[in-house]
Amino acid sequence: MIPSPLPPDFIPFNKPYLVGPELEYIAEAVALGKLSGNGVFTQRCHQFFEQTYGFQKALLTTSGTAALEMAALLLDLQPGDEIILPSFTFTSTANAFLLCGATLVFADSSPEHPNLDAATVARLLTPRTRAVVVVHYAGVACDLDALLPLIRQHNLILIEDAAQAIESYHAARRLGTIGHLAAFSFHETKNISAGEGGLLAINDARFAERAEILWEKGTNRAAFYRGETAKYEWVDVGSSFLPSEMTAAFLWAQLENRHCISQRRLQQWHWYREALAPLGALGVGLPVVPAYAAAHNGHIFYLLCRTLPERQALISHLAARGILAVFHYQPLHSSPFFRSLYSGAPLPHAQRYANLLVRLPLFFELTHSEQQRVIEAVLTFYGAR
Ligand SMILES: *Cc1c(COP(=O)(O)O)cnc(C)c1O
Repeated sequence: MIPSPLPPDFIPFNKPYLVGPELEYIAEAVALGKLSGNGVFTQRCHQFFEQTYGFQKALLTTSGTAALEMAALLLDLQPGDEIILPSFTFTSTANAFLLCGATLVFADSSPEHPNLDAATVARLLTPRTRAVVVVHYAGVACDLDALLPLIRQHNLILIEDAAQAIESYHAARRLGTIGHLAAFSFHETKNISAGEGGLLAINDARFAERAEILWEKGTNRAAFYRGETAKYEWVDVGSSFLPSEMTAAFLWAQLENRHCISQRRLQQWHWYREALAPLGALGVGLPVVPAYAAAHNGHIFYLLCRTLPERQALISHLAARGILAVFHYQPLHSSPFFRSLYSGAPLPHAQRYANLLVRLPLFFELTHSEQQRVIEAVLTFYGAR
């Protein structure tokens, strides 16, 4: 045990967990005698994602960030090419494309929920637009019905940043199967984790072969091992995007137990939603889940406080009771790094979620009595009990 100064009844925001056979599978990987990437467990994960999830091709990566970087490389961006993306997201959504020389065009969030406001995307299109990146915030699907006609009409690439969205759906379609490319994360904070890890899903055959080359440091090594080529050589740019077998083994244990993980998180999510519903009458915002996104994965439960000072007071109130609640993204377009480069319109909704949103503890091992304590502390703060 790592000694910790935290009180024993402290409720963290997130906690890594074992669902069952993780350590057993890592031992199995060690016994198999191959710990570098693309071994038995990696291939088992790939097969699972291709057959059960229906991705045309799946490649495990070292992180969600790495999967986004692969997606950006696959676009073969030229100077001046523009990428439309939400401002209310993690830096990796933007960095991946900026590293490839793209011009970033930030879009606002919807007034109802933190996802990109599809209605504003048409106004941001120019002849240089190459791709739109959507983020399924909190595992709740972005409004793709509004976006897909635009994507087709302008011959754009749709990339899903599905980092938070494993096991979520847009109507009957699994998230990550809809975009030409999609990136998932298995970071410790995500529903299904491998500590650090990710996945690139490729749903358009034109990207499949090159993706595998980028993944294997610019070589045709994967094809060579399948016996498809006589030599293994340098054929393109690339990097080391593949995780070790220890990561894949850990991930496989969690994937096998994905239904149990989702069920528990959704139970917690729905209890928060129900118990905190009375706050709606006070003007506190509760998560809005559009009908097309009803089958979500319970990744994040958030409240929207009425003001920024109120949010900070709520976080302090909870901290004083041994509960860690946290805010989320600050808008990228007005960040210290990007604001001097930003020439678009103000994005008031992204700013509003940055100021008002607070996330409550939600993780696999959160107990009933711990969640009860969080609920009571929030209701007490609002004088609602
Ligand atoms: C977590 C996350 C990422 C990055 O994933 P890593 O695995 O941490 O690199 C990217 N985008 C979003 C929206 C995320 O939530």
